[in-house]
This record gives sequence, structure tokens and C-alpha cells, in this order.
Amino acid sequence: MTKDLSQDPQKSLCKLDEKEMNKSNLDHFRGIQNPNSLLMMLNVFSELSGCPCLLMNFEDKYVNSCSCNAMTLFNGGLIKNGESLFGRISEMKSEREDACIEIVYGPHARGVFVPVKIKGDLYGYFVYGQFVEENDPIAVKIANGDKLTNEEALEASLLKVLSREEIEENIEKSIRFAKGIVSQIEMSYELQNEIEKNKQAANEIRVQKTFFENLFENSPDAIAILDNEDKVIRVNKEFEKLFEYTQEEVLSNKINDLIVPENFKEEGKKYTKQASLGQVLEFTTVRQTKYGKQIHVQVTGKPIFLDEEKVAVYAIYRNVTEEVWQQKQEQIIYGITDLLNSALSQVELVHRIGDLLQPVVGNGQMFLDLISPTNRSLRSFSQKSSKYDQISFSESLSFSAIRRKRKLNLDEYQIKEIVDKNSLSLSEFPMRWIGFPLVDNDLVLGVFGVSSLNSSANLDSDTLKLLELVSVQIALGVKRKKREMELKTLHRSMEQSPASIVITNRDGDIEYVNPKFCQISGYSVEEVIGKNPRILKSGFTPQDVYKQMWEHLKIGEEWNCEFLNVKKNKELYWERASFSAIKDEFGKITHYMATKEDITESKRIEKDLLEAKNKAEESDRMKSAFMANVSHELRTPLNAVIGFSNLCNDSMNINEILEFVQLINKSGNQLLEVIEDILNFTMIESGNIKKVEEEFLMTNFLCEVKKLAAQKQILENKERLTLKFNADKRYSRILVRNDFQRLIQVVMNLFKNGLKFTNQGVVEFGYFVDGEKLKIYVKDTGVGIEKDKKDIIFDKFRQVDDSITRTFGGTGMGLAISKKIMDMLGGRIEVESEPNKGSTFTLVLDCIISKEKRSEVELVDANHMPTILVAEDELSNYRLIETILKRNKYKVIWAENGAEAIRICKEKSNIDLVLMDMRMPEVDGMKATTEIKKINPNLTIIAQTAYAMNGDKDKALEIGCDDYLSKPIKKELLLEKIKSFIK
Ligand code: ADP
Repeated sequence: MTKDLSQDPQKSLCKLDEKEMNKSNLDHFRGIQNPNSLLMMLNVFSELSGCPCLLMNFEDKYVNSCSCNAMTLFNGGLIKNGESLFGRISEMKSEREDACIEIVYGPHARGVFVPVKIKGDLYGYFVYGQFVEENDPIAVKIANGDKLTNEEALEASLLKVLSREEIEENIEKSIRFAKGIVSQIEMSYELQNEIEKNKQAANEIRVQKTFFENLFENSPDAIAILDNEDKVIRVNKEFEKLFEYTQEEVLSNKINDLIVPENFKEEGKKYTKQASLGQVLEFTTVRQTKYGKQIHVQVTGKPIFLDEEKVAVYAIYRNVTEEVWQQKQEQIIYGITDLLNSALSQVELVHRIGDLLQPVVGNGQMFLDLISPTNRSLRSFSQKSSKYDQISFSESLSFSAIRRKRKLNLDEYQIKEIVDKNSLSLSEFPMRWIGFPLVDNDLVLGVFGVSSLNSSANLDSDTLKLLELVSVQIALGVKRKKREMELKTLHRSMEQSPASIVITNRDGDIEYVNPKFCQISGYSVEEVIGKNPRILKSGFTPQDVYKQMWEHLKIGEEWNCEFLNVKKNKELYWERASFSAIKDEFGKITHYMATKEDITESKRIEKDLLEAKNKAEESDRMKSAFMANVSHELRTPLNAVIGFSNLCNDSMNINEILEFVQLINKSGNQLLEVIEDILNFTMIESGNIKKVEEEFLMTNFLCEVKKLAAQKQILENKERLTLKFNADKRYSRILVRNDFQRLIQVVMNLFKNGLKFTNQGVVEFGYFVDGEKLKIYVKDTGVGIEKDKKDIIFDKFRQVDDSITRTFGGTGMGLAISKKIMDMLGGRIEVESEPNKGSTFTLVLDCIISKEKRSEVELVDANHMPTILVAEDELSNYRLIETILKRNKYKVIWAENGAEAIRICKEKSNIDLVLMDMRMPEVDGMKATTEIKKINPNLTIIAQTAYAMNGDKDKALEIGCDDYLSKPIKKELLLEKIKSFIK
């Protein structure tokens, strides 16, 4: 170590300069105030004592040292022989904490450790001593009192090696010094601490003050500090801003006089009292600004105590006007929404909305002017009236808002200007008028607003905003009410619709039917909901119709059609239906609707009308045809009459003239018939004929028919036809009561037709009893009648063939007359016919008075043996003929002369054939034949001529005989001829 010193002792002994020492070594003593002064004291002590002293921490690192010449220091540690000098001391740490420790190493090395303890905390040790090595030659010399060389003396002075006594003396001093220093340090430390504390406290007050000032001035709430008399001591900036006062204006003024509105004065007093009692207050109220604007504030009031004495009160005012307004606004809007959703009448609604708005509009009166559905007037509801008034546009300022489609906020002058400009006649003149048009999709529904008769209505911008919001609500409400009304009307109109309505979903399931549907179809609503309308299908509407219908409906097209549907009770009915698709707002089909009308009745009427029309046309056509027919029917015989009569002149022989006269006569009769038909028809039509009843036997009726039929046959030129007459052989006598002549007329009409429409074959007349009824028929083998014409032929003027080219003549009156007569006689006409085979017209009458049945024998006779009347004056001749005939199953009646033959023919109707001898006494065969033919022209008469003379034969045929036989009678020829007539 010495060599280190010799090299650079200053450097090696004083390793640390001050700067470095402050930086690191004093860190440990940082808690000690002013360590530099400590260091300074160490140096002074070291100088004075000539002994090094230092501060050490617990790791035995020295912290600070004066010039420590006597110690070998290495790397900050006190080293001896490479070991820490105080290594053992650190092991003794606990023991040395409070006590001073003295260590002696040898004669030159001894030191003392004085603890540095400040306020109970041990910081380290004050070390004082000389730690020179034992064998250090200079130290030995000094210890032995040996004389030092100059060099050694210099080194010794440098080392300050002290003698033992010196050291011991200095140790005592150093202990006292160290203790003094420590207590001084402790004192200075405490003082320093005190100063520090005070400084901190002062600082804190300053900070707090600044903090308070900032808080107070920059508070977002208005704050006022009041003295115990409620007078303002100080207010912050926000207070000035909120209440529109300056600091100067408020100072020393009572707070209640400054910001409490008139109607809140009592409340203000109450709170002041509570505050004076030191209560903490928290309430929301209304206060006003210097300029009277009312604001909602939330107030917090608290007393300020100083040494338990209330010195002041501070009041914090938070502006909650916006929130309160917002709340109120929400309440109003919700309230109005509720009202609009209610089922109130318009008048009630306006009253209730008015009540809700009252707090915000003050003395303004609310009104609602709705444009009437006709668009020509206004339905005016006002808060003060109990009904709505129908007023014209010129009676309301609303007209202006409607026209402009925007909000109007008018003052007195603007109102006057509008009134003058538009010549409005208002019932009262407001000072302020605000109207908001209620608009729905660009369409103005009306005007909602507030009008005030004085200008003090509280209609500030916030109120206006609220009213605007309300107007939107009302527009929605009015729109909804309108829609509801429309829906109601629509529903009612559907319910009351005279047409039946069916609405189905997309799948065709019924969702709605109206009462008319139920009435028509017979189904109840419950029975059809969810069903498919196909329940109405009758099966008569072609499938194709439904297919087409769906094709149209599915692409949203309308479809109209007539259906023959079936009701619940299986009754068929006609419907005219109009189908359409119902679409949603996106154009998607959601439902289908059918509007249907029961057209069964109109179909029937239509059919009737069509029939009537056809009939009328037919009748018109028939009339023309009839006129043509009549004309023809008249002209034909007239032509003959005029033609033949013109031909007659004196150059003609009598035979020719007779022939012409016959023709003229025939034509005349035809004419007569036509005219009689016309007259008959007219009389019947005009109801001028009467039933003349009489009793008669059907045999007589038959005789009459036979007679007239024969005449008709000739008149109709139908001699080639065979006439047959059939009585009901089961009865020998049928007595009836009816109009004989009219019945004959009908039969002859039928007979005439039978002849007319038959070209070959037979026309037969007959009658029979059918139960209680008498049936008279005329049957022919003629052209017959088509089935579909069977009915029309009984209509007047109707003919099966009414063309101009028709084959048969006639006027079409015969059957019409016949039918009418039959109606009158209490009977009816039936017809059976087959084209080309023939027709049978049957008269059915309920007119039998009595009837007598034939005996079985008579019946068999009548049935099986034709009766032949043999007029023969020669008995032998008669017997011969009788024998032949009887043998051949003929019944024979004998008439001895012509007169008897006539009589028998008159009396008996069952004679089928007469064999007439031409030469007989009294009434000869010629005369008898003529007479009999008159009675019954159809009765076959075969003449017997005595001579085979052509003249006789011709004569016989001429007078009406059907055939002749020459005498002597030949059996075969006789039978053959008879058979040819009687089958
Ligand atoms: P008209 O014989 O003068 O024409 P009617 O009233 O007697 O008038 O008869 C009406 C129509 O009825 C006739 O035109 C004819 O077409 C049809 N008709 C009547 N009777 C017969 C019959 N026996 N056979 C065929 N057609 C008949």
C-alpha cells in the first residue's frame, strides 16, 4: 500500500472527489438534510484532530472521508492484508446499533465507531481512528520513539501517524464530537423537516385555493355563495351566464329577490328558512333570469361551517330546463299518441290534445281544421267549441297554410295582411296564429295549430318545435283515422254489398265471405272458411273456364265469367263473377277476390225476353206468312170462281156449264171455309163464342162426322184415301153432354188436316172410353210432324212448313181454333206423330153422362162379323146371297126395297157394306144409293145390276157406288169384291 502512496499518494488516499461522492456515496444518507454540511464538519474534525474520520454504511463502504492519510483504502473499503478491516464489525451490526464501538488492532491501529442515528433510524457510523499497520516501519519508529529521518518525518507527517496517547485522547474527543454532530444533524434534520412541512402545508393551501377557484369559476353549474342573511357574497361565471346578471349586480342582494319568480316566492322563502337552519337542500324548481325568462333548475344548497359556526351557504343551480322540456315534450307526445290511438270522437280528441298542450301554449287556443272529403270545405274543430263546424276555406287562415303546404307563424300584422289580401272573413281576429299543415304523401289533410287572441301566448321556438312534432303525430293520427274510416267503410260496404264477395288466400282457401255470399249459397261463414270455392262447382261449367281463370289471375289480370254453380241445397244458380288478384305494397299477390252477382233471375228474364223477342219476331213473321197464306187461300178459289164464271157464255153446252158451275161451287165452298175460319178465329180471339151444351149419343156424333168427312174428302180432292170410322165397340150406347157443333167443328178441322197432309193411305176417325174420359181421335198415315214442332202447331198461324215453297196450303188457324175451342169445352188436344208415318190427334173430354156396355155376343159379332145390308126385292136372290155371305162369316141384314135400305142405314151405324139392287120397286137402287151416300158417304155400296150393261155400270158408279156386280151373282166375285172393301 505504501508503494501506492509513493506513486501517487494524494490520488490513492483521496479516491473520491466531491462530485463523485455526492453522486453515489451520499445516496445512503439522502434522508439527512444537507449532507454537505455534514461532510464539511467531518473534514474540520479530521483537520483539527489530525486523525482521519469517515462515514460508513453497513456494507463497510465508506461514504465520506476527510483526508485519510493514516488509512490504506482500497476500492472504497478499508482493507488490511486484502481483507476488509471492518468485516467483523459488520457481523456485530446488531450490537453496535446504538453503542459506540472501540476497536484496537495494535499499537498504531485503533478506532471508534459512533452510530449516526437520526430520529431513531440508523444511517451509518462515524468512524474515527488510526489504522496504521503494525509492522509499518515509520509507525514502529514513532511508537518506539526512534528518531525519524527527514524523509520518514515527511512521510510520517503525511501519514499523520499519532502516538497512542494522542489517539486515546482524540478518541474521547471524537466520540463527544461525533455525538455532538449527530445530535446537531438530528436537530437540523428536524428543523429541516418542520420547514419542509410548513412549506408543504402552505403549498397545499395554495393548491387548494387554486383548485377551489378553478372549480368555482369553471363549474358547469351556477354557484352562489350567500351569507347568513341570504345575501350574495359571490357567484361564479356560470351563474352570471345562466341568470344574466353580472357579479356586481348580484353582490349584497338577496337571492330570492334576484332569481325567484313571483309564483315561486313562497317556495323560495321555505327553502331559505331550511337553509338557515343548516339543512342540506336538494330540489328542482323554476327560477328566472334577470330578463324574466323562466328556467328549470335543480338546486343543491349546503351550509358552510367554520369552527362549527355556519358562516355561509352555497347554492348550486343546475340548468335542467332542457331535460324538463324534453320530459314534458315526451309526455305530451306519448299522451297525444295514446289519444290518437283511442276511439275518441274528433271533438273530444281536440279537447284532450288541447288540455295536454295547455301548459306549453299558455293562453293559446288549439284548433284542427280538416279538409272535408268533398275537398270544398273545412271541418273545423277548436278547443273552445263542443262540436265541429263546417266552414268554408275563406273563413279560416288555414287556407293559407294549406295552399303553401308549409308551416305559418303569423303575428298580428301578417294576419291582417293575409286576411286583406285574400278577403277572408274570420269569426274572430287572432293576434297570433300558428298553423302546421298535416301532410300525407304530399297531400294536405288539414291544418293543426294554435291561435291566440292576445299576443302573450307562450309560443317560443321550443314550443313551436313541440307543436311541429305534435302536428306530425296528428297528421299520422288523422291519416290513420282516415284509413280506419276507409277500412270501416270498405268493410261495411263489403258486408252490405248486394254482390257476394269471396276472398281467398294464394292457395285458394277461403278467408272471407260476406253475408250476401252466405245468403245466396246457403253456406254459413264457418262452413266455408278454409275451404276451396270449388264447393260451389256444379260440374256444368267447362273445366277450361277455370283453367283460363287461373291463368289470368296468376299474372294479376282480372277475369270475368258466368258460372252455373250449385248451392248448399244442391239448387243450381247462375253467377256472374269478376275475379281479381289482391297485391301487397311490393306488388306480390297475397289474395284473390271474387265479386259475384246472382244472375239466375236475370238469366231467366233474359231467356224469357229472348223467347218473347223470338216470339214477337216469329209472330211478326207469322203475320206476314199468314197474310200471304190467307191471300193465297182466298185467291185460289176466287181465281177459280172468277175464271170459270168468265168462261161461261151462251156458246157453251149445258154439260160444260154444269161442270164449271160445280167447280165454281166447290171453290165457293173453299172460300167459305177460309172465311169461316177467319171469322171463327176472330170470334174466339175476342171471346165471342159461347159453349152451347146438349146431350147426344156418340153414334149420332159418328154419323155426323161420317157425313161431313165424306164431303171434306171430296172438297179436298182426296177421294183416293180410305176413310175409316171406329166406334168404341165395347159400348152400345155412350151418352155425352157437350157442345155438339163445336166438337164437330174441331173434329172436322182435324179431319181436314188429316186429309190435307196425307197423300195415300187412311184417315181414320174414332172414339173410345178411357176410364172416365171420352177420347175422340183422328188418325192419318200422312207426312207426320217433327217432334220439335208438335207444340208450335197449336199456336196461331204456325205451320210446320211456313216457307213460301211449302207443299201444303192453309192458314195455320185450324189447330189454334181447335185448341181454343177445346179449352172452352173443358177438354184438351193431344198429338202423337212420327214423320212420314202419320199423326194421331186425340181430343180428351170429361163429358160422359152414361154408357152401356155391349153383351159378349154382340161384342164378338161386332168384333168379328162385318155387317152387310142386302137391298133386294127378290127373295130368292136374297136367300142366295144370304147363304153365301153367312157361310163366309158375314152378318146379313135384308132390306126389301130402297126405302128400307135408306132407313136401316140411317138407324144403324154398324153396316159395313151395302149390296144394292139397282132395280127395285118404289125407291130404286139409284135413289137409295144417293140417299145413303148422303147419310154416310164412306159406306161402301156395291151395285147389283141385272144386266151387264155398261150404261148401268157407269150410272151406278156415277151416283156414288163404289163398285158393281152383274147378275147373276158369282159367288167368288161377290166375296172378292166384298173383301176388297172389308178387310
Ligand atoms: P193449316 O192446316 O191451315 O196450316 P192448322 O192450324 O190446322 O193450319 O195446322 C197447323 C200446321 O200443323 C199445319 O200447317 C201442318 O204443318 C201441321 N199439321 C196439322 N195437322 C197435321 C197432320 N195431320 N199431319 C201433318 N201435319 C199437320
